Amino acid sequence: MTDRVGFVGLGIMGRGMAGNVHKAGFELGVYNRTREKAERFAEEHPGVLVAESLSALAAKSDCVVLCVSDTPDVEEVLFGERGIADGAAPGLLVIDCSTISPTETREFALRLGQRGVSMLDAPVSGGSEGAANATLSIMVGGEASAFERARPVLASMGRTITRVGPIGAGQTVKLVNQILVVGSMIAMAEALLFAQAGGLDLEKTLAAVSGGAAGSWTLSNRGPQVIRRDWRPGFTIDLQQKDLRLALQAGDQLGVPMQVCSTAFHYYRAVQERGGGSEGNHAIIKALEYLSGIQVGIPAEGKRRESDERTQH
Ligand code: NAP
Repeated sequence: MTDRVGFVGLGIMGRGMAGNVHKAGFELGVYNRTREKAERFAEEHPGVLVAESLSALAAKSDCVVLCVSDTPDVEEVLFGERGIADGAAPGLLVIDCSTISPTETREFALRLGQRGVSMLDAPVSGGSEGAANATLSIMVGGEASAFERARPVLASMGRTITRVGPIGAGQTVKLVNQILVVGSMIAMAEALLFAQAGGLDLEKTLAAVSGGAAGSWTLSNRGPQVIRRDWRPGFTIDLQQKDLRLALQAGDQLGVPMQVCSTAFHYYRAVQERGGGSEGNHAIIKALEYLSGIQVGIPAEGKRRESDERTQH
């Protein structure tokens, strides 16, 4: 049974996902480390209960969904003091939608299993828009029986729900997803900078190429933001770096070349070093701007004048 759902982590993704679980009719309890966010969420969603602690949330739930930042955060939520494991009765189902290490995921599932608690790894893709609109792609690892139990909750948050293998396989597929995402981010950044340098109208350029073979989610959703120099995050650079670290570690273990990921890692590091870690991952283009001295969305004339002035002083 999954009628009573507990949701942990009401961040950029979690607040949309939890809202959709509630909209689908599940009895919903929430917990957020920064309590005000949980209280605000409950005000916006009448009927939602704010739990006093993670263990209290677990005790009142058939199923607990997590959407927190990184591997140590999931460990703390599950096994920390007054954590989920402390309040869990045998039979509880944990669905972890965070993007974390596949290896640690298997370890967490073993520890929960010793208490009679089942776990699925169910990382998501589709950005804050997908979380808000319940159109996420969800890649799930774990036992088939647990997956069937989780299906109604997953269906309330996403559109494409795929069981990809045993526990940990969801996280591995998510890293495949992230390799593809950073590849398209680098390509978009290089292409838009090139268009800018070539004196093109960026909006017309985007309109011309988005519907053809070069089109992508990244280009359609983040391209317009880049042109407006709107760096508000759907996914922050700090979290993107966390995923690149996970992908690079896994690539090393598997013995595969990770050229695109390592290039992206260095570009993002350059943006982080200049204080951009909380900006959206499309701000990768700033690293190319630092290298070239060209800025997107700034007229080429203006740029030339700026550099002329620099030479004169
Ligand atoms: P976010 O906005 O930074 O939210 C993170 C959430 O985790 C917050 O609710 C935060 O609580 C909570 N948290 C972090 N550490 C915690 C800890 N030690 N104990 C308890 N709670 C903790 O991040 P997000 O963008 O929603 O991403 C969440 C997860 O989804 C990440 O693993 C990310 O990689 C993945 N993801 C994100 C996207 C995207 O486009 N944003 C897409 C796919 C997957 P506080 O409010 O107290 O800080």
